[in-house]
Amino acid sequence: MKGVYKRIPLFNCSHVEIGGGSFVSGKSAYHPDDIPLIQRSANIYLRGIREVALKKTGGKCGLCGCILLSGEIPWEVHHVAPKFLKGTLSKKNVLPLCKECHLEVTNAVKARDIDAIKEYVDQNILWSEVITWASKSIQNNSGDNSTPN
Ligand SMILES: [Zn+2]
Repeated sequence: MKGVYKRIPLFNCSHVEIGGGSFVSGKSAYHPDDIPLIQRSANIYLRGIREVALKKTGGKCGLCGCILLSGEIPWEVHHVAPKFLKGTLSKKNVLPLCKECHLEVTNAVKARDIDAIKEYVDQNILWSEVITWASKSIQNNSGDNSTPN
C-alpha cells in the first residue's frame, strides 16, 4: 500500500500508426521507441522495391512504356497479384506503372471489368486469379461493395 509516485510516459494512441507489422526482429510497431527504426527499415525496403520494379522494365511504365527514370512522371509500385488477394511486395510481384496506368488498372479491378482484366492478365499486368475473383464477385453479387486495393 506504500505507493511511489513515478512518472510513466504514455503515448497518444491516435498517433500510433497501425499496420505494416514489424519485420525488424524484436521490435514492436506499436512501441514509440521502436517506430523510428521500423520506419527507417521500411523506407529502405520500399526504396529497394521501387528500384527492383524499375529494373524489371528498364525504367519504363509496365503498361504504356513511358519513361519513368527522369522522375518527371509520377509512378507507383503495382502489385501483379493484388494485395487483397494476398499479393506481396516480393520482387516477382511488383511492376512500375505510371500513376495514370495504375489508376486505369485499379479502376478496372474495382469495377470487376472482366474484359479489361483479361487484357491486363494477357499483358502480365495482373495475376490470372483476378479474373476468377472478379467473376465470383459478380456472380455472388452479395452486396459486397468492398473496394479492393
Ligand atoms: Zn503508363
